[in-house]
Amino acid sequence: MNKVIKLLAMGVLGTGMQQAQATSIVFDYGYDSNSFFDTQAKKDVLEAAGSFFSSRLNDSLSAIDSAGNNHFNANFSNPGVTGSTVTINDFNVAANTLTVFAGGRAIAGSTIGIGGPGGYGASGSQAFFDSFDRGQADVGTTDFAPWGGAITFDTGALWYFDSDVSTVESFSGNDFYSVAIHELGHLLGIGTADSWDNLVSSGSFIGSASNAVYGGDVPLHLDDSHWADGTMSLVDAQDAQDVAMGPSITTGTRKYFTDLDLAGLTDVGWEVSAVPVPAAVYFFGSALLGLGAFRKKSK
Ligand SMILES: [Zn+2]
Repeated sequence: MNKVIKLLAMGVLGTGMQQAQATSIVFDYGYDSNSFFDTQAKKDVLEAAGSFFSSRLNDSLSAIDSAGNNHFNANFSNPGVTGSTVTINDFNVAANTLTVFAGGRAIAGSTIGIGGPGGYGASGSQAFFDSFDRGQADVGTTDFAPWGGAITFDTGALWYFDSDVSTVESFSGNDFYSVAIHELGHLLGIGTADSWDNLVSSGSFIGSASNAVYGGDVPLHLDDSHWADGTMSLVDAQDAQDVAMGPSITTGTRKYFTDLDLAGLTDVGWEVSAVPVPAAVYFFGSALLGLGAFRKKSK
């Protein structure tokens, strides 16, 4: 069943700003064949992660509509089956939405999450092909406008599903919210988009927004898809925190999306609002930093 994350009007940003649409993330659990999301409570945490991005991304994305001789065939990694690719023929995407297929399966090794944008095959008119850029200019060089993609979580990991992600209590296990925003960050292009790769230079990220936040070129992990391990930033210009888009997370800790993580999205091409809507103001329990020594990677 699909569920639409709430749309947020951007009038709260004040005068002088162009009216823009929030980018909604629609989760589809149709390929969660192992029933990782077997309770509404678990889906609620994922949808909270989606709502965070809806509250910050303001791109106006046009629809992709298959019809007649125009066929958009979306493909993505099956979240429920290792090594399997799903193709959905004549796929449609509504304006201002990203469709995210979510599920779980046993993931080998220390990886507990996988996320990335989907691909596609297509046939049809040139105008139809032009719609795949969703109304965005320079997709591939300086912008990114996927139809959505897939995120997968390890069914063998010990997960913590917080019923209220706005505050952090003491917990053990892997914080699902943290890993969800991390994988959605990959789906949105961090470490995956061509417009990200175009800003990777000799092990550093040279995007102007990220450089402004970090104070220079940002060191990357060896895979060039994450900030370097241990990179710090601020959450809403306040609390210091290990970045969300680093290569790993410590059990018993929560990571919110930091200013550097958001700057990465800006550099990939997203229109990122400078301030969250009030409902998305988060507190971070700094006293929890350093808890848990068992590290697991989340790619
Ligand atoms: Zn990752």
